[in-house]
Amino acid sequence: MSRPQNNSSWISWFLGIKGNEYLFRVPIDYIQETFNQMGLEYFTETLQVILNLGFDSSFDCVFGDEEKWYGLIPARYIMSERGMRQKYERGDFEVCPKLSCRQKALPVGPSDVWVKSNVKIFCPRCNDTQPHQSH
Ligand SMILES: [Zn+2]
Repeated sequence: MSRPQNNSSWISWFLGIKGNEYLFRVPIDYIQETFNQMGLEYFTETLQVILNLGFDSSFDCVFGDEEKWYGLIPARYIMSERGMRQKYERGDFEVCPKLSCRQKALPVGPSDVWVKSNVKIFCPRCNDTQPHQSH
């Protein structure tokens, strides 16, 4: 996941924001493919911002949906990528915070109040996102 990429892309900028450092970098080709297949409502402008390799946060405008949308990708990406699925199955990530569950879970971005709440935990068994709890 640490393959060097253009540092001025929107994704690099976004992942550099405090609180987002635990989010996964999703490859651009996967994003494009996902946009075509996942059936999420989106705007072409949003995709253009996300895929912008010359993004300048002090100059370029954003449309407000980029963070929300990007936050929806990682869990799907992880589960679709063999390497990440192995990581998941090996238990490299968090477990569900619910004591009665403790299912292996995934770190994801919430779909709203993104920056404030930082990373949340998605539990496939509860099918729910929950606040990150430090152990
Ligand atoms: Zn759970």
